Amino acid sequence: MADPQAGTAPAPFDAIIIGAGMSGLYQLHRLRELGLRVRVLEAGTGVGGTWYWNRYPGARFDSESYSYAYSFSQELLDEWDWSEHFASQPETLRYLNHVADKFDLRRDIQFRSRVAAAHYQEATRSWDVTLEDGSRFSSRFLITAVGPLSAPTMPTIPGVETFRGQSCHTARWPHEPISFEGKRVAVIGTGATGVQTIQEVAKTAGHLTVFQRTPNWCAPLLNSKIGAEEMVALRTGYPEMFQRCQETFACFLHTPDPRRTFDVSDEEREAFWEKRYAEPGFGIWQGNFRDVLTDRRANAALSDFVARKIRQRVKDPKVAETLIPKNHGFGTRRVPLETRYYEVYNQDNVTLVDLLQTPIERITPTGIKTSDAEYEFDIIIYATGFDAITGSFDRIDIRGVDGEQLKERWKYGPETYLGVMVNGFPNMMMLIGPHMALGNIPRSIEYNVDWVANLMRHARDHDLTRLEATAAGVTTWTDHVKSLGEGLLSNEVDSWMTGVNRNVAGKQVRIVNRYSGSAPAYRAKCDEVVAKGYEGLVLA
Ligand code: NAP
Repeated sequence: MADPQAGTAPAPFDAIIIGAGMSGLYQLHRLRELGLRVRVLEAGTGVGGTWYWNRYPGARFDSESYSYAYSFSQELLDEWDWSEHFASQPETLRYLNHVADKFDLRRDIQFRSRVAAAHYQEATRSWDVTLEDGSRFSSRFLITAVGPLSAPTMPTIPGVETFRGQSCHTARWPHEPISFEGKRVAVIGTGATGVQTIQEVAKTAGHLTVFQRTPNWCAPLLNSKIGAEEMVALRTGYPEMFQRCQETFACFLHTPDPRRTFDVSDEEREAFWEKRYAEPGFGIWQGNFRDVLTDRRANAALSDFVARKIRQRVKDPKVAETLIPKNHGFGTRRVPLETRYYEVYNQDNVTLVDLLQTPIERITPTGIKTSDAEYEFDIIIYATGFDAITGSFDRIDIRGVDGEQLKERWKYGPETYLGVMVNGFPNMMMLIGPHMALGNIPRSIEYNVDWVANLMRHARDHDLTRLEATAAGVTTWTDHVKSLGEGLLSNEVDSWMTGVNRNVAGKQVRIVNRYSGSAPAYRAKCDEVVAKGYEGLVLA
């Protein structure tokens, strides 16, 4: 094997994996088990992907730590203790570093290596991969493990570059902690990231000003520590817990109640929602009546319940109204889980600015100017989200047969086969790409990675050098994914889940970029494809 570290000389790898996050790490492990020569190219200086980059204050899981962990290694399950039901980012990053060390993954990962281009070469049935620094690699297969939420977007507000204080996007947070003690801090954005950041910064900031454009429906996280005895009990229950995650709609521990919202009396419904609101995690979103995300009346009733909670928790009625979403119902965007988020707005050191009433006109050298006031800040935090799902693909010049650009192919929305392959882009496999079941992501990752590893084994065992999805397979799958999205209230709302990002040119129109069927149905379909000899793929 050529020296893979040499960088400038093409190295004949069996597979190049882009990204050393949760999917890239596990894919590397599985392909190495097959005896393949694999190189992971990672832009960061360490492993962890999402949990490497998102070091903002307050970052933590919204899914139960243990349900989010890898399940593939009994030894790993036996030796790793979680300290909280919803682990913080530092703990998760420690976990992923532990995984990298335990399985000796680092020797096949090249850090500080951001991929700029990947071009398919028909003559050699391989991919040429070029880094931003010009280094080149060659590999039979290309596996993208770039993450659905990893291309951060700054707001397109004039003057961003003129601010003289400290400023940072949450997904590009520095490795050294930032002190907010006594500082005048601004946070722009109130998605899941903004909410976690705001509740943390409000604890110490001299004054925190939150700039909110669209309010989101949030629900209590209700995190707690895990003691030694509880950890033993959790570990004993791992087989049942992972089995449960396999069976639920989106791989969470929570599963919808089989009843419809108006099947029960008003009192019973209210009691059910009170119970869900008082339980940790995504229960109120994922474990609600089965029609709350499809039936307008049911969704309106649930939204009204949560609105009443917000009014109870926020003292100033005007502020409470500003925090209650008016243009979408509960759960139709990803629900941020919070810890005393609404109470933050009762603090004297916190101000909420409603950008729907007074939009930001520009960032100035000293702060932020809205249509009615000028604010001075020491620190501006941009919690402004991501060019989701296709964004991390768009940032790489990926070209398939005859130089066709993937970005161009996906101009009107992604087209895939099983969310894993694209016709015209042979030997490229996507992990947690568009049209994939997201949900509790690591559960989807493990299935996705195993499926790709089995395909790689099949290719190795049968001397296959060219794997390509058929055009018909892609059309059928893409139509299927679109049809699954029909009737979902979430597809009628602008959000990263419908591909809308007002800071990215060409991403103002809603598209179907996620598989919204059940995870068991997705796995059944992928298993069926294998059972039928990789139906929908041309294997040469
Ligand atoms: P996001 O949900 O897309 O939120 C971005 C926020 O920035 C929105 O409030 C948006 O307002 C605002 N914004 C963007 N551009 C703006 C502008 N020019 N002016 C004013 N406001 C602007 O992004 P996110 O909060 O980073 O979360 C993305 C996803 O990451 C989450 O939904 C979740 O899936 C994942 N996440 C998970 C966790 C966890 O598991 N613990 C934590 C954080 C994030 P508009 O809504 O009006 O566009």
